Amino acid sequence: MAKISINLATGSLQQEEIIVGIDLGTTNSLVAFINPDKNPQVINDSGKGLLVPSVVYFNSHNEAIVGNEAKEFLTTDPANTIFSVKRLLGRSYKDVAEHSDIFSYKIIDDDSDALVKIHAGDRFYTPIELSAEILKELKARAEHALKTPVNRAVITVPAYFNDSQRQATRDAGKLAGLDVMRIVNEPTAASLAYGIGLDPTQQKTIAVYDLGGGTFDVSILQIQNGIFEVLATNGNTYLGGDDFDRAILNYWIEQNKLDKAELANNNVLMQTLRLQAEAAKKALSSQNLYNEQVGEIWCTLDKQTFEKLIAAKVDETITACKNALQDSGLAVTAIDEVILVGGSTRTPYVKKQVEAFFGKKPQDNINPDEVVALGAAIQADVLAGNRSDILLLDVTPLSLGIETMGGLMDVIIARNSKVPTKAGRQYTTSIDGQVNMKIAVYQGERDLVKENRKLAEFDLKGIPAMPAGLPKVDINFLLNADGILTVQAIELRSGVKQEIEVKPSYGLTDDTVEKMLIDSITHAQSDVAQRMLIEARSEGEQLLYTAERFVEKHAEHLTQAEIRDTQLYISALKNALTLNDKDLILKKADELNEFTRPFAERVMDAAISTAMKGKKI
Ligand code: ADP
Ligand code: MG
Repeated sequence: MAKISINLATGSLQQEEIIVGIDLGTTNSLVAFINPDKNPQVINDSGKGLLVPSVVYFNSHNEAIVGNEAKEFLTTDPANTIFSVKRLLGRSYKDVAEHSDIFSYKIIDDDSDALVKIHAGDRFYTPIELSAEILKELKARAEHALKTPVNRAVITVPAYFNDSQRQATRDAGKLAGLDVMRIVNEPTAASLAYGIGLDPTQQKTIAVYDLGGGTFDVSILQIQNGIFEVLATNGNTYLGGDDFDRAILNYWIEQNKLDKAELANNNVLMQTLRLQAEAAKKALSSQNLYNEQVGEIWCTLDKQTFEKLIAAKVDETITACKNALQDSGLAVTAIDEVILVGGSTRTPYVKKQVEAFFGKKPQDNINPDEVVALGAAIQADVLAGNRSDILLLDVTPLSLGIETMGGLMDVIIARNSKVPTKAGRQYTTSIDGQVNMKIAVYQGERDLVKENRKLAEFDLKGIPAMPAGLPKVDINFLLNADGILTVQAIELRSGVKQEIEVKPSYGLTDDTVEKMLIDSITHAQSDVAQRMLIEARSEGEQLLYTAERFVEKHAEHLTQAEIRDTQLYISALKNALTLNDKDLILKKADELNEFTRPFAERVMDAAISTAMKGKKI
């Protein structure tokens, strides 16, 4: 397979172009490259710093501002300042509802399994678009610092990210104008940064302990023949350095006998104290006492007290390590190396507890907040074929997937995946009583299947008639070492099954692959925009279907005026669906949702009281 890349500025092909490594973090993001001395290095553009806070602020012109500058708006304009977007990536509202109180901006609750959206200014953003803003900033900084176009990247994700979160990360890269060469697990990248896994004869078991700003995870990895296998992961996506800051803040509130209610109303003071708490925590990583004053408030903390404040949280992480180890079926003595990742592992108490648990001194020579980005840069270098000492395993040149609603391509095996590989995803029906499902298999990078190469099509027949959304159809792709793709569809409730085999490389020349890759990059922006419009439209149509049936079925619980107003909201949504404006569709859908939400609750209550009446006590 030829290695190609395109210079977007000139449209010409380049043989050798830089591929950057990106750590797209919950709190901070970084971009790294391999410098002329062949060493990985985090890019520091014009002294702006290595870490780019993963914060996006939208000003009154809907322009995105990213990084330190955006962070300043967290207190002054919280509704339009988006942080922690990584927690929302590829997730539905149901996934995050439990923790919705930590978000100070508006997350749309549409009572469905649809992916979350964020309302800022007068626009609706998907987490993909927001992550793309962060990636655009990293790309721009890299281009500015390296004085060359940067179009290709390796991006890291947590090992526990599911398929839809990985796909969302890929889409964000694409939207930012980056050709995402590969999505790599963060613990894998961290190991590579330490040089572990580069030697194909090496066999090792490692534990990667990653404590960041808001999340914690531990992964047990096994490396064999240059392949990383995740044996187990564990953690808590709502535990991190922010909790340490909060513990310090609460301690100071107590010590200074501050009125909590009063403080809650003083956003600026609260934020100042929170920043002071973070500064204290960082200082205590290298000294024994912190002593500052904010106005009349004493911000004093010694190391011992700090360790008492955070002990319970750190214990929780150690329990997670225990669980991960147990899931991997290994004894603690089987771990060859322990690697520390994440800014919060700078805290000596954390290091001490990790060392005590694993009975081994953890690797901490590389900056824990840089290590993932550095490893991503090394992976990028390997993919670029710049490391002749490392065997590049066989990879799929183009993505493989199926057609979903609105003619969209749903990628199941991503391009550049190692072969052999298998992957699968679950689908359902969109119409009540649907008994057949068409499965069309495509190859290519474009968002609309009509721009890709069709490989095969078949019908899964005999699905028992059920309401829309109930059947569970698993589609599995298996690509074997000879390049034969087996596509299997199975409806889990009934067991109906159908399977075909195709050879994706049949009739595919290097020239075609090249052309398809170039097209996908030149059309990336418009492709993603079309995808989002189609997705918004299907969501809108689905809501329309539900709302209309609801009014029909439950008219007796609604007043005439409520029915009339609901019809108005329905018409407004219908009207929006005829236009090509994603934001308008989402706005009208949100309005209909908000208006009818109380009715749904009323019907639910009525149903419960009816059920109670029928019960004999
Ligand atoms: P993420 O992976 O979530 O993006 P990072 O790895 O960048 O996060 O970690 C950010 C966290 O590390 C923050 O809570 C920050 O306060 C903490 N941190 C940074 N430096 C230190 C330090 N010297 N001592 C203790 N904690 C630190
Ligand atoms: Mg991180």
